[in-house]
Amino acid sequence: MPESKLSPEDQANQINLNLATDMSESKLLSHADNIDEKERFIDITEKEGDFVKSLLRWFDQEARDLPWRALPEDLTLRRDPYVVVLSELMLQQTQVTTVIDYFNRFMMRFPTIVALADADETEVLKLWEGLGYYRRARHLHALAKEVTTRFNGVLPRDREELLKLPGVGSYTAGAIRSFAYNLPDAAVDGNVVRVSARIDAKPYIKNDARTAKTIRERVLALLPYERSGDFNEALMDLGAMICTPKNPSCEICPVSLFCKARLKGRVDDFPIRNKKIAKPVSSFSYVALWRDGRLFVRCRGEGLLEGLYEFLALPERFDKDEKQALHLALEKMFLSNTREDKMKEERKPKLHLSWRGKRRAVFSHRIWDMTFWDAEWIGDDSLDGILVQEEDCASSSHDGWHDGQWVTRDELVTLPFSAFLSPWRDTLLDDRQSNIVAQRKV
Ligand code: SF4
Repeated sequence: MPESKLSPEDQANQINLNLATDMSESKLLSHADNIDEKERFIDITEKEGDFVKSLLRWFDQEARDLPWRALPEDLTLRRDPYVVVLSELMLQQTQVTTVIDYFNRFMMRFPTIVALADADETEVLKLWEGLGYYRRARHLHALAKEVTTRFNGVLPRDREELLKLPGVGSYTAGAIRSFAYNLPDAAVDGNVVRVSARIDAKPYIKNDARTAKTIRERVLALLPYERSGDFNEALMDLGAMICTPKNPSCEICPVSLFCKARLKGRVDDFPIRNKKIAKPVSSFSYVALWRDGRLFVRCRGEGLLEGLYEFLALPERFDKDEKQALHLALEKMFLSNTREDKMKEERKPKLHLSWRGKRRAVFSHRIWDMTFWDAEWIGDDSLDGILVQEEDCASSSHDGWHDGQWVTRDELVTLPFSAFLSPWRDTLLDDRQSNIVAQRKV
């Protein structure tokens, strides 16, 4: 794409002029047909209008049919702004195919931003369960509340106002402005970075703020103002469908004639990847501890996975062959919470432990290396006082008993868990259900 010294407005005027006066498509193609394959290249800096026109023509025929692209009720809008912000937050770091069901469920339960603002955060997180990156759900909920109280339930059009809302960065602000209001703004995601890097054969870096800023200015310079939303979505769709990270379909690419990376035979060299930095690893064990038909859970406090529930966490990792060591560690934990020392020995709990497996969870800045155990606590009711029940969500460390609670099977169903714990939680629920049915039959 061209380096532009013109303002976005001047550039847009120039593009619109180009759209009207540049050589016709047939002329363009007949020129291309008459030259050697390797020479089939048009310098985009000289033919911006043709680039824009080729891309939009392709988009008009091939745009992805996605549930969040349905026409809004208010036809003065290009798209419902709430639908844009909901879908865009869901799509961050997540595949389109994964998001579709979540999006439909969310729209069913919270059809408007006001309905979402009125919801309880636990319910919002529960509906988000399995989608990952839960901070997005909390941001979305906080945004809904703020838009409802400050802007009467309508997302602002002003970029600066949008950037002050929870969870809204440069990309999301550009998406809301251009997708919903068709305002001249750019939305630079990973797809747009990849397409831009290849068209220009420039060493743009993936996931790099400075690169995103540079590309934003370039997209702004190319924007046809009357179709800002379409142009941004066309770049994204091209990246998602044709200019894919591996094996791009250059032979059917609508802008292949403008692509420097293709011309140089260096498509795979762009964009450049950031060097991977080793992530710190935390190793620990989770224990699903049942007692009298109730399970011990705790809500995570500020920080990673805030607001989600988890099982009893021990700060050490106990592997399959370390059952005895886990038993001792749990005993120690019970006894250290017993307030009457002389009672300790006679109140030792009876525990049945069984191995569930192990798992690594990779987050953006760290890794959790976990083992999972089931446990059944049998016996002494007088141990009730052992568990210290403080406020929910008071701490996010793996610190055993503090701020936990015992929940029934029915309560457990309503609580949100992380993507790596929810399958285990579901298995526990199934097991319990089978036990209840078996006991009834006896
Ligand atoms: S020609 Fe190939 S590398 Fe270039 S933009 Fe099209 S799909 Fe991407």
